[in-house]
Parts: sequence; C-alpha cells; structure tokens
Amino acid sequence: MTTTEPNATPEARGNVEQYRMLIDGVWRDSSDKATFESINPFDSRPWASVPAAATSDVDDAVSAARRAFDNGWSQSSPMSRAALLRKFGDLIRENADELARIQVLENGKLIREVAGQTLALANHCYFFAGVAESPTGETLASSVPNMQIYTVREPIGVVAAITPWNSPLALLLWKLCPALAAGNTIVIKPSEITPVSTLALAKIAQQAGFPDGVINVVTGAGAVGAALTANPDVDKIAFTGSTAVGKKIAIGAAERLARVSLELGGKSPNIIFPDADLPNAVNGVIAGVFAATGQTCMAGSRVLVHEDIYDTFTEALVERTERIKLGNPLDADTEMGTVACRAQYDKVLHYIDVAHQDGAHLAAGGSRPSDPALSDGLFVRPTIFTHVTNDMRIAQEEVFGPLAVVIKFTDEDDAVRIANDTTFGLAAGVWTSDVGRAHRMVRRLRAGTVWVNNYRKTNYVAPFGGFKESGIGRENGAHAIDEYSEIKTVWIDTGNTITDPFNPRA
Ligand code: NAD
Repeated sequence: MTTTEPNATPEARGNVEQYRMLIDGVWRDSSDKATFESINPFDSRPWASVPAAATSDVDDAVSAARRAFDNGWSQSSPMSRAALLRKFGDLIRENADELARIQVLENGKLIREVAGQTLALANHCYFFAGVAESPTGETLASSVPNMQIYTVREPIGVVAAITPWNSPLALLLWKLCPALAAGNTIVIKPSEITPVSTLALAKIAQQAGFPDGVINVVTGAGAVGAALTANPDVDKIAFTGSTAVGKKIAIGAAERLARVSLELGGKSPNIIFPDADLPNAVNGVIAGVFAATGQTCMAGSRVLVHEDIYDTFTEALVERTERIKLGNPLDADTEMGTVACRAQYDKVLHYIDVAHQDGAHLAAGGSRPSDPALSDGLFVRPTIFTHVTNDMRIAQEEVFGPLAVVIKFTDEDDAVRIANDTTFGLAAGVWTSDVGRAHRMVRRLRAGTVWVNNYRKTNYVAPFGGFKESGIGRENGAHAIDEYSEIKTVWIDTGNTITDPFNPRA
C-alpha cells in the first residue's frame, strides 16, 4: 500500500497503529508486506506496526537519495538549506509533545526527561542552519608563483544513518542536521525497538519542505542496517550503537573506503575524591548511572571512590538509590522507568548473575520490584555492587542498564590507572573541590568528554565522541560538519606560466 501519510488510514488492529516507511517522498509498506511490532515496555503490549524493509526497499531508498543528491540538493545554496533546517526546527517545537510521547511508548524513558530533550532538538536545527551559512573554505597563502589556491567544502554524497533505541531522535538529529547542512542526502535506519519516532520525525521533515529523496527512512532489524551499509552507492555511514556492530560496519566500509563515524559503547568512570561536595556527588553519580534506566552510552557505570570515604559515600549512595521511585514513565513524578526491550532486560539480569559470580557484594537492587502495579513492565530495581575490582567482568563489560559498580582507589595515580584500564574511552566524571586536581585529572583521563562536578551533560555546541573502542569521529559542535564533507583544493594559474612541461617549478 502507498499513501502520503505514515498512518493515514486508521486500519488499526485493535489499538495497534500502522506506520509506513518514507522512500523518495512516498510512504510505503515493505515490498514483501512484512511487518514487525513496537512493544511498549511498560505494559508489554504491541502498540504500533511498522514495515520490515526488504533489501529491494533499501536499494530503492539509496537510489532515491542518489537522485536527490545529483538532481539539485548537493548544489542547493547553503542559505536555502539553512531556511529548511530552521523551518524543521520550528515544526519540531510545535510537535515536541507528540514526539516525546511516542519515544516513551517505544523505550520506556521518562517523559520528564524526553519532553525537554525533544524540545531542545530544535536548537540542533537552528545551530546547524547557522553552520550551513558560515564560511566553508579558505584562501591559502602560497609560495608558488602565479598560483591562487583555495579550498571549498563539498558534501560527501549519500549518508546512511543507523541509530540505537535509547535516545532515538536526539542521536538521529546529531547526524541529520550536519549531514543536511553540508548538502548530503540521507537514508535513516532507526533501531527496530524505536522505529516510530523516526517515522514521525520524517513526516515533520516532509512538512518542512525538504525535497523528495533528501530524507528517506527504512525500518527493520540489523539485517536491514547491514543491507544499507553494504549498498555500494552509500558514501558515508554514521552509526551509533554497540561496539560489536560498529566494528562490523567499519570492516565492511573499509572494502570500498566508505567514510564512517562511529559512536559506540562505554564503561565510564565517575571518580569521587574526599574533597568533593559529597551530597552533590551522590546526586551526580545517581543521575549519571540511573537516569534513562542506565541505558545511556555515557552512563557513569564505574563509580571510583577514594578509600577514605568509601564506606560513608557508598552508604549515602545506597540510601538514595533505594528511594528511587519506579513507575509509569508517562507519570511526571516517576524517577526511573523500564528497561527498553526484552533482550536488554534479559541482558541486565544476566549481568547481575555475572556480578555475583565475580564475587561482588550486592548493596542495592539486584532484582525486579515486588510492586504488583509494575508486574507487566520490564523493570529492574536500580542495582549497586560494591567491593568490585576493575578486573572483574562486571567492571569491564558494558551492561547498558541500571547497574553501578563501586571500586575503591587510594590516590590520584591509582584513580587514573583504574579509570583508563578499559577498552572504552567515551566519558569520565571527576568530583573534587581542588581546582588543580580537577585540571590534572582532565588531562590524564583517556575519554572523549570529562565532566567536573557534573555528569551527563550534552549540548549542540559541544563535540561528543569516544577515544579507543568508544568510536571514531565527533558529533555536535561546528566541527561535526567535517564528518559530512570533503575538502576540495583548487589551484588557479593566474599567469599561464607553463614554459617547460618537465620542470615542476616552471
Ligand atoms: P546495536 O549495535 O545492537 O544496534 C544499533 C543499530 O544498529 C540498530 O539500528 C540495529 O538494528 C543496527 N544493526 C544491528 N546489526 C547491524 C549490522 N550488522 N549492520 C548494520 N546495522 C546493524 O545497539 P543498540 O542495542 O541499539 O544500542 C545500544 C548500544 O549503543 C550501546 O552499546 C550504547 O553504548 C551505544 N550507544 C552509543 C552512543 C554514543 O554516542 N557513543 C549513544 C547511544 C548508544
């Protein structure tokens, strides 16, 4: 079936809303009619049905993006692209409540977090509208006589954007805005857990007036992402997800040297010194690891506490953790919602077993809540393990759930050694009132972001990305445009001076 609306005909089975993919400006079912369902993790019921794209649909989307790139978009003026981005931002603001509600239904994240996060997405559009309009090349001073040398920035081509489920729209906008600002076209493959919010966003982009084929969305699981990244007409892959899948994508892209940027996993240290404002640090550690039910790449999941305050700090941490209010993510007073999907729920419970096997001491949580009102939801109580050493699996492997481990350190050198003893390098936190120590730690920690006396802040102006196996490249900030453009160098001979074809200086 083909319509121009994602759910134009309310052919709902029960309350299950029907959605379609956007390819070349047309809302389509899968060519083989296959579908899958989005499950609300709070009540475990399917609430939306979405096409499972066939490889031919993926190829259609890439062809549409190529045509749109060649037929005008890549040569469009930066000002016209900026105007569309501003209109897109305005429409996101107008529709922010609905976009937030959909994300909560998809992944169980709290409305009190998602509402503000969704409204703020408009700022990404406005910021990258400004970036689009900024100077893009340089005139170079040259030692070569009679030569005018300058650079221009050009779009790469067709971008494949593959996103995870934890912040489906924010992580998409981090890619979409700079890609469009630079003049690329895009095919988006959202997570199979959270496809609907991306389809709703694409509808808004269409209303903003982006030409057909500039933004396409194909839905489905990992195989659809694999078909997209394998398409030889994809010039650049922008991926956020697990390190394991990111590595597979990088290996495939290397075959044809497609450009990649990868935002991957983390096991970030949050380091507490005795001179910190300890009540502030307790709140910061809790926000760092239990916000979004711990399902954030930057989760401060390794809490490193100085030996002098280990017992008192851990006690305060456990006390506040046990008061975290679990509940319906759509209720404004809920402090922690569900895990997003069944597979992730099973993974979190598995890692609780791993921590026990490692010999860690369970200090909080470690099980489902007993409240019968929560019995249909994928809830896991916020969990803390103490007496953890950094060589344990529970300290080395990403859980991506509400699970923190508390590790003791003796001094700055020991804290740095433990913090950096990981394959990841996404983020770190330092809590101290000693300004010298703060600066020393910032320089010694191998991580893409370091927060001092705060944690888990992001902004469109601030580059974000990982060291080591946490990724390649940076999103956000004006330099994000570098990830979506090629630099072309132009040499103009101003004197027709080639007198000797074999003398490079002539
Ligand atoms: P995932 O790697 O399982 O899936 C991410 C996306 O890749 C999904 O859309 C999935 O369908 C797709 N995919 C799966 N296999 C594929 C393949 N072979 N080829 C192409 N695409 C494929 O990750 P997830 O479970 O959705 O998300 C959680 C992970 O994402 C965590 O590791 C987390 O740390 C990471 N993450 C990183 C950041 C960051 O900015 N660094 C942000 C959010 C999440």
